[in-house]
Amino acid sequence: MKSPLPEYLKHVLTQCKQDSGQTAQYIPELASANPDHLGVALCTIDGDMYAAGDTEVEFAIESISKAFVYAIALEDRGFDGVAKKVGVEPSGDPFNQLSLDPKTGRPDNPLINAGAITTHTLVNGKTPQDRYDRVADVLSRCAGRKLRVMEDVYSSEMKTADRNRALAYMLHMTGIIEGDPMAAVEYYTRQCSLAVTAKDLAVMTATLANRGRQPVTKEQIFSPDVMVRVQSVMLTCGMYDYAGDWVTAVGIPSKSGVGGGIIGSLPGQVGIATFSPQLEEHGNSYRGIKIFEHMSDKMGLHLLKVVPPSQSAVRRDKTVKLPSRPGHPANLRVVAVQGAVNFVAAEHVSRHLVSIQPKDDVGIVLDLRAVTMMYDVGKMLLADTVEGLIADGHKVALIDPDGVLPKDKMGAADRPGTLKELLPQGAVAGENQLGEF
Ligand code: GLU
Repeated sequence: MKSPLPEYLKHVLTQCKQDSGQTAQYIPELASANPDHLGVALCTIDGDMYAAGDTEVEFAIESISKAFVYAIALEDRGFDGVAKKVGVEPSGDPFNQLSLDPKTGRPDNPLINAGAITTHTLVNGKTPQDRYDRVADVLSRCAGRKLRVMEDVYSSEMKTADRNRALAYMLHMTGIIEGDPMAAVEYYTRQCSLAVTAKDLAVMTATLANRGRQPVTKEQIFSPDVMVRVQSVMLTCGMYDYAGDWVTAVGIPSKSGVGGGIIGSLPGQVGIATFSPQLEEHGNSYRGIKIFEHMSDKMGLHLLKVVPPSQSAVRRDKTVKLPSRPGHPANLRVVAVQGAVNFVAAEHVSRHLVSIQPKDDVGIVLDLRAVTMMYDVGKMLLADTVEGLIADGHKVALIDPDGVLPKDKMGAADRPGTLKELLPQGAVAGENQLGEF
């Protein structure tokens, strides 16, 4: 059977097809783009792609590149190194304003032009060309194919880049940009002129959503902490002076570009990209906004519509009777945990375990085989809980073949035993059989 999702996406496109706005007029080459193009692509963090409409047509990435280049700068200079030069405050101003912090002289955030020209200069590289090569290489690895510059767009944009030149000179004057400000504008503009399709953008965005791991090639391109920072800034600053409306109506960390693309990254779920070059007054794709609003509403994608993970964290709690043998408990209470164990899930499991009264004839087995991800807070809370159970006189065994709990952090004297220690010999052939309980 074929997935019904592409049909659904086609339906979304028909719902959001109304014409409005115009192509980017201030860059001649973009002004002449085909205003009818319309596409949507969606890539899950497992690398499955669903698409409808014009998702293989190339267009200039423009400001969408800023989110990725911010990530590269954070990797290369560290959070503090970047924070000295660029803030994380929404400016509420149009993208090409000189929005600088009055005290520090830093651009407000890395997603307006002043901030993006700055972050471009923070990428590692001995020369401006080296820096650009690194940018193009990382963006290509995110896309899973080599991206090329649209030379027509580049030269057209350079002809009308006086405002960016002015920004770069101002930033150079205040010491925010080091090196040649004109080279910074030149290579920043090349970065913006990289050609992408909506499908490329969907997989690039799924890399952000997937804690920095490209979902198809499986390459870990960025570190998870950098992804948290980038997506936070996308949520508050990604849509220029439309950011507040966007967060309330759509609620997805996003970035738009005047080439007509919009990306939306739902952490741990999916990367979404839309393409339609008709722009509204803030410079965002008019039909792209409509598609995101529609999908967020109908597909429940708003970041704050959270499915509570806690109730399903304890997958099973079952008591298994064992043949009685001296020195071994007659029963095993098998508590199986599942899914991603974040704070609320760990709290739920911990509360569940703590409520078990110690009994001589009951051993506790904590089965962690179905855990897909254990957050640090989960590791800490569950390790402490196991330690506490042992201190209270419980006999505890872990089934943890992937080592999700840090055993070295649990009191050395009272480490939980293996299942074999808890079971009378021959009672259960192996740990796998617990799956049948
Ligand atoms: N390269 C464009 C500029 O610097 C990017 C603007 C945008 O996509 O918002 O004006």
